[in-house]
Amino acid sequence: MTTTLDRIAPFKNEVIKNFTDPADAAQMQAAIAAVRNRFNEHYPLVIDGQKIETEKKIRSINPANPDEVVGLTSSASKEQAQEAIAAAARAFESWKKTTPQERASYLFKAAELIRQRRYHYDALLVLEVGKTWPEADGDVAEAIDFLEYYGREMLRYAQPHPVVPIDGEQNEMVYIPLGVGAVIPPWNFAAAIMMGMTAAAIVAGNTVVLKPSSDSAIVAAWFVDLLHEIGLPKGVVNFIPGSGSVIGDLIVSHPQIRFISFTGSKEVGLHINELAAKPQPGQKWIKRVVAEMGGKDSIIVAADADVDAAVEGVAVSAFGFQGQKCSACSRAIVDEKIYDEFLDKLKTRVAKIAVGDPTDPKNYMGPVVNESALKSISEYIEVGKKEGRLVTGGNRVGEKGFFLEPTVIADVDPQARISQEEIFGPVVAIIKAKDFNDAMEIANNTEFGLTGSLYTSDEQKIKRAKEDFFVGNLYFNRKSTGAMVGAHPFGGFNMSGTDSKAGGPDYLLLFMQAKSISRKV
Ligand code: NDP
Repeated sequence: MTTTLDRIAPFKNEVIKNFTDPADAAQMQAAIAAVRNRFNEHYPLVIDGQKIETEKKIRSINPANPDEVVGLTSSASKEQAQEAIAAAARAFESWKKTTPQERASYLFKAAELIRQRRYHYDALLVLEVGKTWPEADGDVAEAIDFLEYYGREMLRYAQPHPVVPIDGEQNEMVYIPLGVGAVIPPWNFAAAIMMGMTAAAIVAGNTVVLKPSSDSAIVAAWFVDLLHEIGLPKGVVNFIPGSGSVIGDLIVSHPQIRFISFTGSKEVGLHINELAAKPQPGQKWIKRVVAEMGGKDSIIVAADADVDAAVEGVAVSAFGFQGQKCSACSRAIVDEKIYDEFLDKLKTRVAKIAVGDPTDPKNYMGPVVNESALKSISEYIEVGKKEGRLVTGGNRVGEKGFFLEPTVIADVDPQARISQEEIFGPVVAIIKAKDFNDAMEIANNTEFGLTGSLYTSDEQKIKRAKEDFFVGNLYFNRKSTGAMVGAHPFGGFNMSGTDSKAGGPDYLLLFMQAKSISRKV
């Protein structure tokens, strides 16, 4: 376990497991069996270090087999949400005085324990949110990366920050925490985003209430248990699962909440932003909102692209984790000169995608997360069939789990609904562009601006895209998904969020404020 902070190694991303190695595969099978053995376990709220069971429960089900209950968490009432905020406010008084080194050491300890339990966390994501083995491992690896990266970032921020010297004064500027934060993550990177958002807030000296997504509350409960195990002081992270529509507004509008760290849909993000802007009686600050929201991400395939590489990039970006990544490719904008070739090859590539239970490693796509996602994606497919030409997919697979075929809809108008609205499922719209200029215009025609990718062999097009492709994360000749902590600080423009960059050197600043101190000498 890492204890000596002054000799800490430079940050390095975790290596993703190779499940073709029989030893790794065997460990994963054993972990899946072990997590199954824990099905139906109950997880309490944790407020001020106290475990509280409530009568009302949130059931987290296996989307591949909804009869299976992965676990149940207690469900916080409004009163309990208030108690959690009060507990966080009390804990803040001492936590804010701990050293950055001490706070960082908790993150490093947490990273080390998750590393030791990697297969179990992987298996939980397979069963709780329907990730395939590599997708689950990518999520857990990213969670470890966030803990390691933000720990080191806090140590960096704790160094002196040079200010311009003035005769007769001793001047300094220090970063101090904000206060009590509400951490509201989504289910799609159920480990990485949940842990990353929580870790960033607390390592900066804040205390939080963590309201997990109702679809992935068990992995959050495991993390909260682990924080207890490493001795994180009580009240620093208070765990209050509960329906967003029941306790969300109360948390966001509470006068003791200083900031909200949210990742999720545009609709909920905008609602939170609006509510947080209104000062409440007794509130002494303007709340800070860090909101990471939806996307409608495009891959442009120029006439001079390597078409095979582009087909591969679109297929994995569109259908990895069933298209349920904010960075997923949901529009391929293809130059008309290679349009037919691209489409033929994409159809052939997609036909090779196996859909089924993600506990079986031969499947590339698992289920979508829940029944309402299945319904809403299916409705979009019906809209898409009218707005374009169904090339492949479009159907539900089986009757039990929430499985859908990978779906390609071609000849879609740039203004069509399936070209403009976030579907968040395995559906990609193919749009024909007259030329590169046209493709660039189409790529920028949504209200979002999260990720984008361009396949081309032309340096001029790369130069133009660097200037004009208005997305927070731009890629060339590679997929639009798979951002790595530290290497690709992540976050989008416009309705994709508040322009923050998770896993980047500016991120911790969002959870701190600078204090300038001057002394006459
Ligand atoms: P939602 O917006 O449905 O939910 C996100 C979180 O908000 C959940 O914890 C949810 O709780 C909570 N919530 C719901 N209503 C309220 C409310 N009124 N007040 C406070 N909290 C509330 O998003 P999903 O979980 O479905 O996640 C998918 C979305 O996240 C997609 O749009 C995707 O693009 C986006 N996303 C963006 C990323 C980025 O970096 N830009 C990264 C990952 C995802 P509950 O579950 O109880 O409803």
